[in-house]
Amino acid sequence: MKKLAELYSGKAKTVYTTDDPDRMIMEFRNDTSAFDGEKVEQLERKGLVNNYFNAFVMEKLAAAGIANHFEQRLSANESLVKRLTMLPVECVVRNLAAGSLCRRLGVAEGIDLSPPVFEFFLKNDALHDPMINDSHICTFGWASAAQVADMKTLTLQVNEILGALFADAGLLLVDYKLEFGDFHGTLMLGDEFSPDGCRLWDAKTRDKLDKDRFRQGLGGVVEAYEEVAGRLGIALP
Ligand code: UDP
Repeated sequence: MKKLAELYSGKAKTVYTTDDPDRMIMEFRNDTSAFDGEKVEQLERKGLVNNYFNAFVMEKLAAAGIANHFEQRLSANESLVKRLTMLPVECVVRNLAAGSLCRRLGVAEGIDLSPPVFEFFLKNDALHDPMINDSHICTFGWASAAQVADMKTLTLQVNEILGALFADAGLLLVDYKLEFGDFHGTLMLGDEFSPDGCRLWDAKTRDKLDKDRFRQGLGGVVEAYEEVAGRLGIALP
């Protein structure tokens, strides 16, 4: 399948149309951004690592019954995916406190969150992705009540599946963000799952092995992503 036209270019990925109206090609770039695009850098190999990482996770999720848009990895930086109509909301699950939760509620980083916290955010850079709830989503028509319920259920199911997968690799799944879309009437997981959109800590040392290394200027960003990939058994070229 060949790329036809650029459909959309985001902060870290570009998507292209193909000759199949139901399929698109997702290209993972080396661009790495934080703070609503205020901090941007090119990190060698990041696109490749995230493409392989995403393929591995999406295949695991599909095998565990979570329908998603991933079809196949096409090259070092590209994957073929179903073309979904994305819902403009981000679904976040948190197992340990970090990031905006600590800033918002003044809780200490690293405290256990049991049961896990679930949050919705509106995808809107100009408004800095504000936190929203089910009521906002339904009233403004960003998704239906049934889609809201399904996104919550699916995002929490993903927590069970990936929490166990990462635990086996000596990692804590601190939090993560998922995005969903509609494919001919079926709700499916879209976007990506990579260390750009989740927090992963070493289970023993609690070292950060995710994009917080970039956000906090800790260095060794791609090295950390490769460390996680290696522990999961992902063979990178
Ligand atoms: N996240 C993301 N994209 C966003 C916002 C958050 O992928 O636009 C991820 C982030 O990497 C983390 C989780 O969602 O794993 C929760 O992020 P948080 O609300 O703590 O915001 P942050 O501290 O990243 O600003």
